[in-house]
Amino acid sequence: MHMAEQKHLSNPALRGRLLAHEPMRKHLSWRAGGIAQRAYVPADLEDAAAFLRTLPADEPVHFIGLGSNLLVRDAGVRGTVMLMHSSRAVMHMDGALVYAEAGAASPKLARYAAIRGYAGAEFLAGIPGTVGGALAMNAGCYGSETWDRVERVLTLGRRGELRERVPGDFDVAYRHVALRGVELGVEEWFAAAWFRFERGDSAAALGRIKELLRQRIATQPLALPNAGSVFRNPPGDHAARLIETCGLKGHSIGGASVSEKHANFIVNAQGRASAADIESLIEHVRHTVLAKQGVELTAEVRIIGEKQ
Ligand SMILES: Cc1cc2nc3c(=O)[nH]c(=O)nc-3n(C[C@H](O)[C@H](O)[C@H](O)COP(=O)(O)OP(=O)(O)OC[C@H]3O[C@@H](n4cnc5c(N)ncnc54)[C@H](O)[C@@H]3O)c2cc1C
Repeated sequence: MHMAEQKHLSNPALRGRLLAHEPMRKHLSWRAGGIAQRAYVPADLEDAAAFLRTLPADEPVHFIGLGSNLLVRDAGVRGTVMLMHSSRAVMHMDGALVYAEAGAASPKLARYAAIRGYAGAEFLAGIPGTVGGALAMNAGCYGSETWDRVERVLTLGRRGELRERVPGDFDVAYRHVALRGVELGVEEWFAAAWFRFERGDSAAALGRIKELLRQRIATQPLALPNAGSVFRNPPGDHAARLIETCGLKGHSIGGASVSEKHANFIVNAQGRASAADIESLIEHVRHTVLAKQGVELTAEVRIIGEKQ
C-alpha cells in the first residue's frame, strides 16, 4: 500500500473502506475485466465528499454503481473507483417526492414507491443498477425513462462539493445525459435525486412490477452474466432484430457469446470471458451489422480502462 493510501486510511475524517488493486470483475455484472488501482467504498454521502477532498487534483475518478452497464478493460483502470452501491443508501419521502441516494438499487426505489401507493416507478424494477447509474444513463424501459420523473438532483463535485441541480441544467435524451458546461462523470457525479410519481394503487403497482419481472425472465438471459442491452436501438428499429437478422445469435469470441435468448445481450456463459473477448465481440457485431444491414449501431454499455 503506498503512502497516499495510508494517509487516507489514517485520516480520522474518513469512515469508508479503501481497497488497493481491487478486481473489478467482483463489481461488474459481466463478471469480467481488470483491476482498479484503488477503490473506495464510502460509508455515506458525507464520507464520499470527504474522501474526494483528500484526492490529488490529477487523480482520475470513476463512479460505479452496480456495474450493470459497464466493462473495465483487462489492463485495469488507473486512479480511484468510487463503489457507490450500498444497501444502506437513504431513501425517504420528502413531501410528495421520493428522495433516493445514488447508491440505492433502482429496483428498491420501484418497490419503495409502489408500497407507498405511487405509480410510475415500476419500470425501475427491471433495471438492475443503482439510482446513480439510472440517472447517468437515463435508464428506461417499456416507454418510461428515469429523467421523466426527476424533479431535481444532488450532485457531488470533484472537490467534494454538494450541489442541487434541476433537469434544465442537463441535456437529456435516449440513454444520454450531459451536464451543460461541466464534464459529467469527470468533474461531477450524481449523489441523490428527488423523483415525482403520481398517486396510484399500491397493489396495482406491485402487480405491474411482478408482471414486468416475469416478462424479463421470459425474454432475457438473466441466469448468465451480462450487462443488459449492449447497443442502443437505432431510430425506428431494434438492435436485437438487426443482430439476429445477421445470424449472430450464439456467435462467440473466446468466452463471450451473443445470447441465444436475446440478440442484443452478450453473455459470459462459463464465467471465463476476458474484457477483450467481450469488446472484440461488440466490435464484430457492430461491423457485421454495418456491412450487412447498413446500420451503424452505437454501444449503450460504457467501456473504461487501459487496453492490454
Ligand atoms: C439484465 C439487465 C437488464 C437491463 N435492462 C435495462 C433496461 O431495461 N433499460 C436500461 O436503460 N438499462 C438496462 N440495463 C443496463 C443497466 O442496468 C442500467 O444502465 C443501469 O441504470 C446502470 O446502473 P449501474 O448502477 O449498474 O451503473 P454502472 O454500470 O455502475 O455505471 C454505468 C455508467 O453510469 C456511471 N455512473 C454510475 N453511477 C454514477 C453516479 N452516481 N454519478 C454519475 N455517473 C454514474 C458510470 O460511471 C458508468 O459510466 C440492464 C442491465 C442488465 C444487466
